Amino acid sequence: MSTARLTVDLGALVANWRALDAASSSATETGAVIKANGYGLGVEHVARALAKAGARKFFVAVAEEGAAVRETLGPEVEINVFAGHMRGDTDMIGDLNLRPMINSVDQMLRHVEALPGHPFGIQLDTGMNRLGMEPADWLAVRDTALELSPTLIMSHLACADEPDHAMNTRQLRLFKELTAGLGVPCSLSATGGILLGPEYHFDVTRPGIGLYGGLPFEEAAPVVRLDLPVIQVREIQAGESVGYGNTWVANDRAIIATVSGGYAEGIHRIIGPKTSLYAGDIPCPIRGRISMDSIGVDITHLTEEPQGLTLLGPQQGIDLIADNAGTIGYEVLTSLGERLTRRYKPA
Ligand SMILES: *Cc1c(COP(=O)(O)O)cnc(C)c1O
Repeated sequence: MSTARLTVDLGALVANWRALDAASSSATETGAVIKANGYGLGVEHVARALAKAGARKFFVAVAEEGAAVRETLGPEVEINVFAGHMRGDTDMIGDLNLRPMINSVDQMLRHVEALPGHPFGIQLDTGMNRLGMEPADWLAVRDTALELSPTLIMSHLACADEPDHAMNTRQLRLFKELTAGLGVPCSLSATGGILLGPEYHFDVTRPGIGLYGGLPFEEAAPVVRLDLPVIQVREIQAGESVGYGNTWVANDRAIIATVSGGYAEGIHRIIGPKTSLYAGDIPCPIRGRISMDSIGVDITHLTEEPQGLTLLGPQQGIDLIADNAGTIGYEVLTSLGERLTRRYKPA
């Protein structure tokens, strides 16, 4: 088999959910964000493992994702949709019992007209200016909205991965002002907010990236491993080059392994010059440009030809690769391509 292999450790996923659950008091329910195909890892497997571990509140970005989760997990769990109630979503929301997180007065009208009595939450904007009702709009419709018994009022922190950022306390204060005394369950925090401490926990938390082993959850167990099979090995002499554009030229004789996997697998070209793959604990630097389907790797210093090399694993996690690409672990995960063979280690 020559396709690169992504191994997803569902035990580590569940351990991360439990650790984030333990970080808040038992009065706070820990949900799970499984949008974007479970951060690229395969939503069916991720959803099943988390449900089995006890997660009951799931969050997705759009109704179509919610439909897939409902099909996987059946009627018992709660599925909340961040995009709210969009035109064209009514049948899915109604038939599959999804809960839209209503983010505007227009959406609220659409929802109560199309699906009277159907559960929904309210999403408030507390400064991120991305999704959610503006405070003024909320204050204008609040009494009407409360009569319709929303199941959750939520907002989202813009800077939770920077604990000392003044934005955190500003958003916290505004969220409290907008929700105090309403008797509706509240939710403010994703992974970063959970780590800011109990004030930020409210009734429900919504961790995503921390479940999948990414920062800002530093203690997270790594969830993914990416192994690339070696498909050819050759010796080159000083002055020879490797890959498109001849960007790397050997100073000395070198042994180059060509591994299967490239930017079509979501291994961004930009990481090439800074990144090594691993043979066990031994780093083997990438040589030349990353191609669509293959990468040249320097194995001159190895004593044996390896069958495969590891890009993501205990030696090197998603945040290190993200650094090399000038991005964040979230993007590394959600870029992982369709062509990868995915294997799941059961929890
Ligand atoms: C993606 C998202 C989350 C999860 O965030 P993480 O940083 O991955 O934990 C929570 N809430 C909302 C509104 C989101 O968009």
